[in-house]
Amino acid sequence: MKMIDLILKKKLGQAHTSQEIDWLIDHYQNGSIPDYQMSAWMMAVCFQGMTDDETIHLTRAMLNTGTRLDLAHHYAHTVDKHSTGGVGDTTSLIVGPIVAAAGCTLTKMSGRGLGHTGGTLDKLESIPGFRIELTNVEFQQQIAQIGLAIIGQTSALAPVDKKIYALRDVTATVQSIPLIASSIMSKKLAAGADVIALDIKVGNGAFMKTLEDGRQLAHMMVKIGTEFKRHIIVFLTDMNFPLGNAIGNSLEVIEAISILKGGESPRLKELCFELSAQMIWASGLTPTLSEAQDLVLEKVESGEAFEKFRQMVKAQGGDVAYLSNVDLFAKAPRVYQIVASKSGYITNLDALKIGQLAMYLGAGRASKKDDIDYSAGVKLCKHIGDYVETGEVLAELYTSLDLHQDTLDTMFKAALTISSEAFASPDLILAVIDPNRSL
Ligand code: URA
Ligand code: CA
Repeated sequence: MKMIDLILKKKLGQAHTSQEIDWLIDHYQNGSIPDYQMSAWMMAVCFQGMTDDETIHLTRAMLNTGTRLDLAHHYAHTVDKHSTGGVGDTTSLIVGPIVAAAGCTLTKMSGRGLGHTGGTLDKLESIPGFRIELTNVEFQQQIAQIGLAIIGQTSALAPVDKKIYALRDVTATVQSIPLIASSIMSKKLAAGADVIALDIKVGNGAFMKTLEDGRQLAHMMVKIGTEFKRHIIVFLTDMNFPLGNAIGNSLEVIEAISILKGGESPRLKELCFELSAQMIWASGLTPTLSEAQDLVLEKVESGEAFEKFRQMVKAQGGDVAYLSNVDLFAKAPRVYQIVASKSGYITNLDALKIGQLAMYLGAGRASKKDDIDYSAGVKLCKHIGDYVETGEVLAELYTSLDLHQDTLDTMFKAALTISSEAFASPDLILAVIDPNRSL
């Protein structure tokens, strides 16, 4: 087989055989296919797409490059979740403890933030001492004792994805449904849970800009998961607006703690509770969705969900004093306030622009090597659909940098629309797709 023939075949829009896909993945992983040929092939995939069978096989070939955890064999009610990334998306830190408190086993491999989207690992590392790498023995012990662990992506699972993803990142080939679906699913299948909940973000702050693209990605991931006998649930959720009120690493941890202790943050809480309930139900812990929803409320109200979070942070070396007293988190030296220059309803709060503002304040990374300022970020005092009066504080901006109030006002207000017409907060959960059940 020759790589140039495979590139040509895909360029002409023809489908590969499973032998061709195996050959391509093996030879790219062992270094005998150079990056420039792999890039050309991926660009052809971006334009020509892949059939469902090709995509399933690509996922299998990527999965086969590494080891697989056999969680479902050793533990009951194994669940995992993945979000395609957003702004103010702190769901993992809330859903993980809730479902574990309810009796699920959740082991999640997370990523770091890049660009305007945050990453779960960075958020957790804002808790002093927290370790995102565990030895295999520590990891197994923690799952057995607590039923919850959130760690970094280990290079043992679908290792070829790391190499492919890095190449896609610099060759403008991230945006392709077969490449995204196989990348995410190869890692999730390797991680071994029975139930995999996928939160596909749709909107200007997300990879998938339209609901139609989101649906296509959802259907592909469901197909792959079903092929591998996993229970896949897909949420399609809005990412035109930030999800929570906090955008920035320690700010988001503080918001997660507040929700776990029964606090409010309407959109973030709605999504976390519904995701948790669906995962609990799908795992077989409750016979109905409504019982799962009750269980979620019970686990939060009783304090068990917060206690589960505390146990995980303790097991992974984090200083739990920060969880009981969030004032211990390092404070950003500077706080700038944004006030409303007119009264009315907030009818837009652009997620991408708010995410970029948080980065400007020091909360994110423009390139993988950049350091981040854990205390930096945006705290929204008002959210989409809220009514505001002239002079009311819309947001507080936290940073270590010496910035100009005018610049910050301009940046924030570029994301904001205030209108005089009353405005209902738009739907957050756009669709839930569960092939094992009719909802
Ligand atoms: N996240 C992944 O892990 N892979 C993709 O291709 C896109 C998002
Ligand atoms: Ca099982």
